[in-house]
Amino acid sequence: MRLIVQKYGGTSVGSPERIRAVARRLVKTQREGCSLVAVISAMAGVTDDLIKLAHEISPEPTRRELDILLATGEHAASALTAMAVNALGAKAISLTGAEAGILTDPVHTKARIANISPKQIQELLAEDYIVIVAGFQGQSAEGETTTLGRGGSDLTAIALAGALNADACQIFTDVEGVFTCDPRVVSDAKKMSEVAYDELLEMASAGAKVMQSRAVEFAKKFGVEFEVRSSLRTTIGTIAKEATPSMEDVVIRGISLDRHQAKLTIAGVRDEPGVAGRIFSNIAAAHIIVDMIVQNASIGGTTDISFTIHEDELEDARKILMPVVSEVGAKRLNTASGVAKLSVVGIGMRSHSGVAARLFKCLGKGGINIQLVSTSEIKIAVVINEDDAERAAQLTHEEFGLTTLKPAPSPAQPPG
Ligand code: ADP
Ligand code: ASP
Ligand code: MG
Repeated sequence: MRLIVQKYGGTSVGSPERIRAVARRLVKTQREGCSLVAVISAMAGVTDDLIKLAHEISPEPTRRELDILLATGEHAASALTAMAVNALGAKAISLTGAEAGILTDPVHTKARIANISPKQIQELLAEDYIVIVAGFQGQSAEGETTTLGRGGSDLTAIALAGALNADACQIFTDVEGVFTCDPRVVSDAKKMSEVAYDELLEMASAGAKVMQSRAVEFAKKFGVEFEVRSSLRTTIGTIAKEATPSMEDVVIRGISLDRHQAKLTIAGVRDEPGVAGRIFSNIAAAHIIVDMIVQNASIGGTTDISFTIHEDELEDARKILMPVVSEVGAKRLNTASGVAKLSVVGIGMRSHSGVAARLFKCLGKGGINIQLVSTSEIKIAVVINEDDAERAAQLTHEEFGLTTLKPAPSPAQPPG
């Protein structure tokens, strides 16, 4: 029998009616002859509300307790989905991440999956249950509840599809697939019919929230092909897979915006071995994710090092860096929030030149100042003022002709 892992995001289970629609789709898929594992996210807004509540109780909630708290969002939604399936006369059972055999490292709120033992899922599937798994969570070797970082239900689904050797993995969400840019930012963005793991990985790490970047990384590493598609329509979505030679014909596949960024500059750093290592190991020890790093050419034996992080981590980073700045004899630490990163992504950049020039010219014409630039083989990213972000995305989208991509056929149909 065909085994399918389906994941439903927060909006897709955001109300009792939507949960019932998900349940109908699950039962229909099972009746078509499939074995089904459904990974469920917390209902829309619940995780944000729980985080807000925790911060009303304590300015710095302990991460262990945050994990216990946040995991409840997915517990509730998965139990409700199982009830909805049972109410339709089919058999469903909900499992927590721990019961589903998801073993993680012990890093609370950002745990990584270490191993999966899906024995209980397999036994339940053999008894014809639709197995509903609470997304976004696991258990450490010490038996502690952990969560997998924001958007982590995507990772639960991809990892389970890999561990169960599923025939298909479908990520159901509130848009029809992966678009050339966030359709809420660029209204004429187009749905892609396929995207290479590498492209989606760059887009996701650059702020395209449609997939969690860790999930795409996992999919690439273990070769788990998956489809991103709408839970509200029955249209075909976007297939994420290994690159094919024809994918290189398109120079730019997509554009991503990462809005809530902060830029830190350590000015007057001595230009000698080991200094950068000391600065960044302190940041790494606090599990703060550093994005772009730019070091200026040295003048008079000193240099400036700039880097970006998520705005939410600015206070932690500042606290950590203040003593380090004086320890390494740097002149000062400058910080700025309210910046955004715009990235253009495409594996076609491997074989086409001139992308940077076109991007810079287009932003220049729009009067948009570039503060930092970084590149990879398939991406050019620029840091700009957050106020310019949407306009920059629209201008860039036009410049690279993404509006004229032929959209995948998508005859809209009502929810199943
Ligand atoms: P879910 O709750 O289903 O996990 P998310 O809110 O995490 O859904 O991700 C879906 C959202 O991602 C969409 O509503 C859309 O606004 C946003 N998004 C950002 N970039 C893209 C993109 N390139 N293609 C599609 N959606 C995107
Ligand atoms: N509920 C979690 C979040 O909001 C996980 C997810 O939705 O994938 O980040
Ligand atoms: Mg998501």
